[in-house]
Amino acid sequence: MLPGTAAANPQSRKESPPEKSQPRPNVILITIDTLRADHVGCYGAQTVKTPTLDGLAHDGVLFERAISQVPLTWPSHAVILTGTYPFQNGVQDFTGQPLAPQFRSVAQAFKQAGYATGAVVSAFVLDRSWGLGRGFDFYDDAFSAETFQKKDIGLVDRRAEDSVAHAIAWLKKTPQRPFFLWLHLYDPHNPYDPPEPYNTDYKDHLYDGEIAYADHELGKLIAWLKQSKLYDSSLIAATSDHGESLGEHGEDEHGFFIYNATVHVPLIVKPPAGSGISAERRHDPVETTSVAASLVQLAGVKDFIKRQFQAKGLFDRNSGSGDAAYSETFYPFSSFGWSPLHALERRPTTGCRRRFKRKAATAPGAQSVYSPERRCRKSKSRRARKTASTRLLWFSRRCLT
Ligand SMILES: [Zn+2]
Repeated sequence: MLPGTAAANPQSRKESPPEKSQPRPNVILITIDTLRADHVGCYGAQTVKTPTLDGLAHDGVLFERAISQVPLTWPSHAVILTGTYPFQNGVQDFTGQPLAPQFRSVAQAFKQAGYATGAVVSAFVLDRSWGLGRGFDFYDDAFSAETFQKKDIGLVDRRAEDSVAHAIAWLKKTPQRPFFLWLHLYDPHNPYDPPEPYNTDYKDHLYDGEIAYADHELGKLIAWLKQSKLYDSSLIAATSDHGESLGEHGEDEHGFFIYNATVHVPLIVKPPAGSGISAERRHDPVETTSVAASLVQLAGVKDFIKRQFQAKGLFDRNSGSGDAAYSETFYPFSSFGWSPLHALERRPTTGCRRRFKRKAATAPGAQSVYSPERRCRKSKSRRARKTASTRLLWFSRRCLT
């Protein structure tokens, strides 16, 4: 077993009592579903207005090359909230089993540290039955029966206006501080039907209209935090689970391929005041696997979830992040019997690149090195696929550090 691959098992470790209350920052994790980085203003988009995300970027750190580990909603959120790779937590597509109980969520870590924990999710695909409700005092995944009757179950959702209102309502009636809030907005996901005036203003590119609408509604939460004098002292992270192909490479939506259209996501971290972290833009590749470790570290929470993390924090000076970022998808394999795909986004270095390719290509069990522009060969078995994924990542890290 590779170093650091053992998941923390809450059943095998006696949990320590809650830590004494200390001045710790409130923590807010925002995931805007299906959000391509290049369709956000602070990432250079010209055709969509995203003043809320732009404002967070102005006040925090923007990671220009943030990579999602899997372009599917449920598996990607499992990555973000547990800090583990899909080939390690076992959630590799939406046809599999729920998250295994031995994997700890950052919500459990925050709760253990005395935080009030709340989540508002905007799509049924993140229903608590999949396992991400663990650790949350409040997990708002209730959708009306009427909604289920009208839509395919995979498209059951609610608009950002309702979800943001639910989040603010929970914060108002939860006096306990600090708090950890996870807010998930689903609007940019297909079908693209933003409410007015966005439907008219963006009639020729409704996907952008959904983004502009979600950003506007998210602005209400940020405004509330500022009015409540909670903004400056809070740690706020905003990212996405995956992007959207929008027809590139013959794919309309996401999940089948792992080109940058679906794995390059925005990632912005607004640190709490006094953290010593300056607002800036960082250019090296980072992974959404690092989000969980970053939240825990910046909040000063000490929890055995750290033993579970497969990536170090975004602000860890000794972090391997910035070297390479891994992605995979088993959707084509699970649903169509086609090849699973693996990708590695790397910081370009010539000599190391050659060594990495040679090592990975000759590694026992490795099926192929897959760049965003290449397809890998079909794996022979699930065990072989996991082995290949692990080795691919291990070789990349070892080579680049
Ligand atoms: Zn999604």
